[in-house]
Amino acid sequence: MFFDEEEDFEGEDRLVKSTKGEYDAEENVLRPKTLEGYVGQTKVKENLKVYMAAAKARGEVLEHVLLYGAPGLGKTTLAHIISGEMGGQLKMTSAPAIERSGDLAAILTNLNDGDVLFIDEIHRLNHSVEEILYSAMEDYALDIIVGKGPSARNIRFSLKKFTLIGATTRAGMIANPLRDRFGIICRLEMYTPDELKEIVLRSAHTLGIAIDNDAAAEVARRSRGTPRIANRLLKRVRDFATIKGNATVTVADAKFALGKMEIDDLGLDEIDRSLLRAMIDKFDGKPVGLETLAATINEDAGTIEDVYEPYLLQLGFIARTPRGRMILRGGYEHLGYKMSEKQREQVSMFDKDFKD
Ligand code: ADP
Repeated sequence: MFFDEEEDFEGEDRLVKSTKGEYDAEENVLRPKTLEGYVGQTKVKENLKVYMAAAKARGEVLEHVLLYGAPGLGKTTLAHIISGEMGGQLKMTSAPAIERSGDLAAILTNLNDGDVLFIDEIHRLNHSVEEILYSAMEDYALDIIVGKGPSARNIRFSLKKFTLIGATTRAGMIANPLRDRFGIICRLEMYTPDELKEIVLRSAHTLGIAIDNDAAAEVARRSRGTPRIANRLLKRVRDFATIKGNATVTVADAKFALGKMEIDDLGLDEIDRSLLRAMIDKFDGKPVGLETLAATINEDAGTIEDVYEPYLLQLGFIARTPRGRMILRGGYEHLGYKMSEKQREQVSMFDKDFKD
């Protein structure tokens, strides 16, 4: 029921997709081991430092932590760092792997004092499993109902004091009773190009890749604010440089390789562009529902929401409106489309920065 971190538990067919995939076998090697080595996310790091030091000073375990943010932003990495700093063992699983409440009960009873239980995709826990978690989180106790009907009895087992770290890409999908049991809630932000450059240089060093500063900056700029993508692009760029016989990856190598991978200046790939194009060509720039849009480009709606949309929203290329997703001026311009009068009018209703 525990998954092996190296294991590919989600399909992978896209290089700039930020979910884990076959390209990421070296991911564990690249994970920073301490908060000092963890680039960016300054606010989260500062707060966690205080919470961890305070818990240690009181001789307590750290309160339960909810980490949320798009795939590849460093949630699993933070869980490793937290358990390392707090001195417990890290046990990892993911919500889809816990099918029955008995599965979770088995995991919980095997934890020791100070251990960290990491549950990935925690928004996908089923209801009966989630209910077991409530008393486990609040009272370090396991309530099990034995028997049925009038003779049913509640038996309570005590658990060791552990810290639960839940990770999710969809904070909005977590039920309130579960969310309320997390003492610490951290939202991970997308990384700036400078932070990503630091990550690229650090990863290059770890993997023994020689890369120019400018080339690292080029990779960083096209990594959609996501360390996992930065690491993945770094490795592919290195491949192109190797084949050309270059020992050091130069900016020309990086540009050439990224061009070959059809990743444009801003890190968008063909699927992002077809999504934007569909919004104009098929829906004339009017708001369109997520499901409809997904069906049009033959993608899964959940994947669009988790993987593609966050970066397009961040760039200000699309907006979420009450009537659906809508393309904004930046999206038209990036694709080289000229807006019609009607489209300008539509955009001006939703784009606060829109000026004629
Ligand atoms: P998530 O769990 O959010 O999907 P991960 O923690 O698995 O993301 O991070 C993916 C990869 O990105 C890791 O292997 C790590 O090398 C890198 N990474 C993530 N965050 C950072 C960071 N803040 N600093 C350096 N590398 C990072």
